[in-house]
Amino acid sequence: MKFKNSQTDLIEFRGREIYIKRDDKLDVDFSGNKARKLYYYLVNEFPNIKRVVSYGSNQSNAMYSISALAKLRGWEFIYYLNHIPKYLKSNPIGNYKYALRNGMIVKVSNERPKQEDFDSSTLFIEEGGRQLEARFGLKILADEILEWQKRNYIERLNIFLPSGTGTTALFLQKYLYENGREHQATVYTTPSVGDENYLKLQFNMLEADELKHPTTLKPPKKYHFGKLYRELYLVWRDVLRETNIEFDLLYDPVGWITLLNSPDILNSNRPLLYIHQGGLIGNESMLERYRRKFPDI
Ligand SMILES: *Cc1c(COP(=O)(O)O)cnc(C)c1O
Repeated sequence: MKFKNSQTDLIEFRGREIYIKRDDKLDVDFSGNKARKLYYYLVNEFPNIKRVVSYGSNQSNAMYSISALAKLRGWEFIYYLNHIPKYLKSNPIGNYKYALRNGMIVKVSNERPKQEDFDSSTLFIEEGGRQLEARFGLKILADEILEWQKRNYIERLNIFLPSGTGTTALFLQKYLYENGREHQATVYTTPSVGDENYLKLQFNMLEADELKHPTTLKPPKKYHFGKLYRELYLVWRDVLRETNIEFDLLYDPVGWITLLNSPDILNSNRPLLYIHQGGLIGNESMLERYRRKFPDI
């Protein structure tokens, strides 16, 4: 299976034109940045692999995407969680529900599994898909963007995307730099998990040369990952109403609110490309949590 190029839409939000790279529409079963990051495992041959093992949170977008990958490849998928809340077990929802439908086998353990725990028929994937192999699919994303830019006579472009592990933003910027394209396109990001220092550490784990790191914008205040904030829901809803595009509720609201508080980027005369990184299956559980916490919204 190969992806077609994802489309790019032009929207207007609060009077600003913004291009949206629709990676949420890459494929029905397998989309967003996790599909890009896992693409290596989708298109290469792994004759000895029988199963894939990973770990992380019980509503992770990566968990769901790995379940889709395993299903497409006919591999068993074992996922380690440190605990499953009772309500989720009796009433599966969101990423957890659809990963189970794809055949995910859940193991509860206090210990984080490691590569060395498994034999050579097991493919081990780090939490959130933080793997060097992510380069493979992100190079394709970068090439798609450069090609689109050329076709549309855009000389200089700003790219924006919110980060978790920072893998997607880092490999995009690094690829542009190493191919002498850093003057053509600049990658901006913001941390949704942890703060700027955490994100810098994540970048450094993948690339020591800071010249190849994306530019980090600071969110207007400290948001704890996965926690619910009224203003984050409201910005998500405004984007949906004004543009008709549904974004993820975990990373993107922090992205949008940071962008709206970054006038240099927002008002720059360079066109702005926001990368839609998918994750919409997770909105089912996020919306339920928002409705419970803020019944008036
Ligand atoms: C996983 C995810 C991210 C974060 O990606 P990283 O490569 O870990 O920075 C951002 N947005 C969405 C929707 C995601 O699912």
